Amino acid sequence: MKRIGVFICWCGSNIAATVDIDKTVAAARTMPGVVHADHNKYTCSEMGQDMIKDAIKEHKLDRVVIGSCSPRMHENTFRKTVEAAGLNPFYMEIANIREQCSWVHKDKETSTDKAISLVRTAVAKAARNEALHADEMPVEKRALVIGGGIAGIQAALDIAESGFEVDLVEREPSIGGRMAQLDKTFPTLDCSACILTPKMVDAAQHEKINLITYSEVDKVEGFVGNFDVTIRNKARSVDMNKCTGCGDCMAKCPAKVESEFEEGLAQRRAIYTPFAQAVPNKPALDRANCRWFTSGKCKVCQKICPADAIDYDQEDQLVTNKYGAIVVSTGFDTHSLDNYGEYAYGKHPDVITSLEMERLFNASGPTGGKILRPSNGEPPKNVAFIQCVGSRDREKGNPYCAKVCCMYTAKHAILLSEKVPGAKAHVFYIDVRTPGKDYEEFYNRAYEEYGTSYIKGNVSKVFPDGDKLIVRSVDALSGALVELVVDMVVLATSVDARSDAKELGQKLSITTNAHNFFNEAHPKLRPVDTQTAGVFLAGMCQGPKDIPETVAQASAAAVKVASLLNKDNLMSNPTVAEVNLKYCNGDMSCMAVCPYGAISEKVIEERRGRETVKRKIAEVNTALCQGCGACTVACRPGAINLKGFTNEQILAEVDAICL
Ligand code: SF4
Ligand code: SF4
Repeated sequence: MKRIGVFICWCGSNIAATVDIDKTVAAARTMPGVVHADHNKYTCSEMGQDMIKDAIKEHKLDRVVIGSCSPRMHENTFRKTVEAAGLNPFYMEIANIREQCSWVHKDKETSTDKAISLVRTAVAKAARNEALHADEMPVEKRALVIGGGIAGIQAALDIAESGFEVDLVEREPSIGGRMAQLDKTFPTLDCSACILTPKMVDAAQHEKINLITYSEVDKVEGFVGNFDVTIRNKARSVDMNKCTGCGDCMAKCPAKVESEFEEGLAQRRAIYTPFAQAVPNKPALDRANCRWFTSGKCKVCQKICPADAIDYDQEDQLVTNKYGAIVVSTGFDTHSLDNYGEYAYGKHPDVITSLEMERLFNASGPTGGKILRPSNGEPPKNVAFIQCVGSRDREKGNPYCAKVCCMYTAKHAILLSEKVPGAKAHVFYIDVRTPGKDYEEFYNRAYEEYGTSYIKGNVSKVFPDGDKLIVRSVDALSGALVELVVDMVVLATSVDARSDAKELGQKLSITTNAHNFFNEAHPKLRPVDTQTAGVFLAGMCQGPKDIPETVAQASAAAVKVASLLNKDNLMSNPTVAEVNLKYCNGDMSCMAVCPYGAISEKVIEERRGRETVKRKIAEVNTALCQGCGACTVACRPGAINLKGFTNEQILAEVDAICL
């Protein structure tokens, strides 16, 4: 018979106000195997932990049950407590009588009965707890950052500065991401390129950072401390070792297509760098638009290249590297305007998106920084800005707030007044949200100092009238119909998760929310971790955020990576699945449900009488197993068990709660 000790925590008044502590302790004393029961105002305090350690010694306890808050809160604390008293840490069990009891019930009698049931359940399980031992695994001291925007660059720099090697993978020919497209940044109005490009150069020149551009993650295997990641280096058709970045090929290439970087407002060549300050500043050849690849004629770039760097025969290369930790910083897509025909985007040239407006403001953009109407090249006198296009729209857009549109619209209004003297900005808004340092003041400046007119109301239609545009709305404050005559309309477009976020999430075994943004492990307490150990998040791929938040999160992810890579070994989680060969029938239902790919088929040989027969069974890779338990419920013969949560333990809990 086990010697079980039960300790009931008051948690101040959190538990004690709703649960009768004395009655619960008295009930615990009558439970099978319980030889000691006590209570404490704060069990997690040093005094509370000492009480447990002393009782273990005094009463020769070999199992411990603590009635307290959720195991998410203090499981590790209490495991260490019992370990310090000489017990295996997995001999300790928690009955959650706070979140699952005192916090959700008001009636003391009902709560006390429930608390007693929960303690009885934990006692039944603890009596069947076995000693579990963690294994040590070596850590590969190298990190991978996926996505080379500001989040990825910042994370890579911080990891490298901590002394670890980093591979920074970017799918485009250059790092820089969305921030490279912006003109000025709110609320300080400093030039985006001026603060970004030094960081891009720092990343390129850092001896511990290896830039892998024009490349994508193909496959991820392994586990925390030991990921095996296969990266596809897309055929660039330019030998990076030979290319000097002279740009002769780009100047002479006859094939022109819309520039993605310029949001379609200008053209680029088929062999191109996305923008002038690209890092690396060496071109990539876009085969889909290259005349040699589409029609078998041209080869101008090869003839002109003085370094003999053009290589049409290059092929994609798959390279597999080992990493201890991964940061995902893949950024965002802008929301499609297909559902917003009422704004005439794509039908009238003077209706543009906010990112297109950024390119017009930018001195290196298609108009050299002049704000000109795309229809006639004249400066606009009146510009309407429509906020929340695709945001906070449950009918046909995103239900969430894109978080940055109010602020960049205020910025556009200010910049318009500065660049086009006499021009007037009119902002149509649902609400103006300014949650950030100096953001409210910045918005105030837009209308107080720069005379921006803010009109509260949804725009129902934008339509042409001669060479002007009419913006129709209802002023929600006065109820009056508004028909505003303007020269240009700028749509503050919402942000989406990357269209391939789910696919990347599957490779990394990390989940996405209903809108395909990657899920953090805990929205408040673990905002940069994911559910997969060793994989961290930074930037917009987790959800809408501005540049300061993105940079802060990237640095936080880098700290997490550095603290992980600082360890020589990691302790494995011992609560993993194990297969009982006797009962396994080899139907592999477990393999089909395991979200971590931790189960594989194995063929074993067995003696049956005089014969040796081969039999298929399931085998668990304990390094990959995250202990989710999905396999245990899928296994019909009950052959697979989760250590620490065996079928026997769970059935004992059910029996105890049904008493
Ligand atoms: S071969 Fe292709 S990339 Fe090179 S110059 Fe001709 S069209 Fe441009
Ligand atoms: S417990 Fe979860 S992670 Fe482990 S093998 Fe089973 S399904 Fe896979």
